Amino acid sequence: MADRTDWVERAEWVADGVAMLEIWYGQTAIMACYLVEGASRRAIIDTGTTASPAQGLVPALARLGRRIEDIDLVLNTHGHVDHAWGNGEFKRLAPRATTSLHAADIALRHPDVLARFWQARRVAAGDVTTEGAEAHARQVEALSGAEPHFPEPDATHAGGDVFDLGGGQVVEVIHTPGHTPGSCSFHVPRARALLSGDSLTGSAGIGRFPLLSDVVAYRQTVLAVQRLDVEFVGPAHRYPFRPPLGVVETPARRGDLARRFLADTLTTALDVEAGAIEAWQADRHAPRAAMVTEAVRRTGERIGVDLAGNEHARAAAGLWLDVVGAPAA
Ligand SMILES: [Zn+2]
Repeated sequence: MADRTDWVERAEWVADGVAMLEIWYGQTAIMACYLVEGASRRAIIDTGTTASPAQGLVPALARLGRRIEDIDLVLNTHGHVDHAWGNGEFKRLAPRATTSLHAADIALRHPDVLARFWQARRVAAGDVTTEGAEAHARQVEALSGAEPHFPEPDATHAGGDVFDLGGGQVVEVIHTPGHTPGSCSFHVPRARALLSGDSLTGSAGIGRFPLLSDVVAYRQTVLAVQRLDVEFVGPAHRYPFRPPLGVVETPARRGDLARRFLADTLTTALDVEAGAIEAWQADRHAPRAAMVTEAVRRTGERIGVDLAGNEHARAAAGLWLDVVGAPAA
């Protein structure tokens, strides 16, 4: 494959004062940031990876006739690599912008904390031991020197906070944990839009199964957003719908598709829970890894996709087995 030179997949207005900026990072990975404009201020939701502001956001904003230095506010949905790691570079290009992240995700700027985040999921799935996970985290720490990969945010936000962008355009923060502890979604009521980052991960799909750190918090999150009256849902990635619709080649979900995406996210979360509990009740003495394999099989059957070997599905099943009190591996 030829090296990518155009990092912008699409930059388009998707709702009243809301634009989607879908950009590539690396040769094969893609994510969506969002621009929200009011009469007096502009906010950007997420900054991508370190290279993204210069490589993806500057040209994406230019397609809309906007300049990065005119952005006042950076709102991060959470602290992961492809969402907040561009913050430092963004501030270099847009010095007046202030960055804001939920306090619970600030620690994710340290690589060793991020390594523990990933490894805890593999421990829950019975795929590695606690000792193995700790050894891995120490390796990461040694390699990286545990240097933070994005600067401390200028401010923190929490559920219930409101950012006024002027002219009636406000952004309401909804704390939507489960993917990470500090995951937030941004509700733009005038546009009837919900910009959800990785907080709502749709249904199962290859490599796109709900990537969760706390399954109980996630269930509460996906239940809570059902009551929102929205016409547009904008996640950060092309999270799939349940079969037969599956993957749609844009993160933008409008009208019936927006409501269906919220519903599919909920039913999938409940199917993950049911698969894990059924597997636990079927054989309470099975080793953890085998119980997880059975849980994933049952969940896949419910959804109508083959999830065998899907590491995110294994992690989610393992986390539910922790909740119900199944013995560790
Ligand atoms: Zn994430």
